[in-house]
Amino acid sequence: MEKSTLAIVVPCFNEEAVLPQTNERLLALLDAMIAARLVGQGSYILYVDDGSHDRTWPIVEGCCGTHVRGLKLAGNVGHQNALMAGLEAARADADVTVSIDADLQDDINAIPEMVKKFDTGCDIVYGVRRSRKADSFFKRTSAQAFYRFMTDMGAKSVYNHADFRLMSRRAVDALCQYDERNLYLRGLVPLLGYQTDTVYYDRSERQMGKSKYTLGKMISFAVDGITSFSVKPLRLIFYLGAVFLLISLAILAYVIVALCQGNGVPGWASLMLSIWFVGGCVLMCLSVLAAYVGRIYTEGKHRPRYHVEKYVK
Ligand code: UDP
Ligand code: MG
Repeated sequence: MEKSTLAIVVPCFNEEAVLPQTNERLLALLDAMIAARLVGQGSYILYVDDGSHDRTWPIVEGCCGTHVRGLKLAGNVGHQNALMAGLEAARADADVTVSIDADLQDDINAIPEMVKKFDTGCDIVYGVRRSRKADSFFKRTSAQAFYRFMTDMGAKSVYNHADFRLMSRRAVDALCQYDERNLYLRGLVPLLGYQTDTVYYDRSERQMGKSKYTLGKMISFAVDGITSFSVKPLRLIFYLGAVFLLISLAILAYVIVALCQGNGVPGWASLMLSIWFVGGCVLMCLSVLAAYVGRIYTEGKHRPRYHVEKYVK
């Protein structure tokens, strides 16, 4: 039987430090998988250069050959969009794709296992890390808090799974039908509904180069995830308003009782305090509304997610 064509999609942003080693390891793995007849001869690695400012693209071009391709995006569009660009390019001729980060923190030896699950009929296989021992304390706790918060907010995602996953062509085709600009792939993929499975692996530390996810990027990623999957925060504003209303009624009752007893109302300190407190809360609620309105604004414009500058096969 003809073996499936595999495309390993690797988004890269300023990854000159890790790319040579990454390519060496991925190529060795792909060669071994082809030799073992696990995947077809036409399988390839697809590096997506997400508008890097360093030597990432020249390195990618240098690697291009029989089993390596390069897709250069015209500018930096972020990890999720770059990954989507790679998947959209790969679905033209690949039967199955595996997405993985350029730093190879995810164990590439899980890939053959994923492909075996695909061969038994799975459309989506999630790479899930066994533990987060390799992460820094900050990264570990913030990531765990993030997952919990996301689930509480109604945006379900697979726990301890990032973007290391296998997807069949029909799963990628289905994913491409989701036309949204604020992409949050780990929330979207579970919505596809195809048969899924999991492969567990140990995540190692980043060998070289720096994490491209700064605290600011992580926060905006989290906001993207919540606002594109849940309207719960909007509902929470209502409850907050209700609580405030109750508090103000209690204050009114207190004032009436105080007046009846001839004690007068305590001075301006309490007044100022409550004005600032309520003002702060109102502004915070407005900002939640603004986050949604902002998303409606970007979605409404239907701008393209990325532009391809070059595709080297
Ligand atoms: N990345 C990207 N565009 C960006 C930021 C990151 O394509 O704007 C890529 C990056 O090159 C890497 C992957 O996304 O392959 C994950 O980034 P990183 O390893 O820095 O994130 P972390 O593992 O620290 O969460
Ligand atoms: Mg990483």
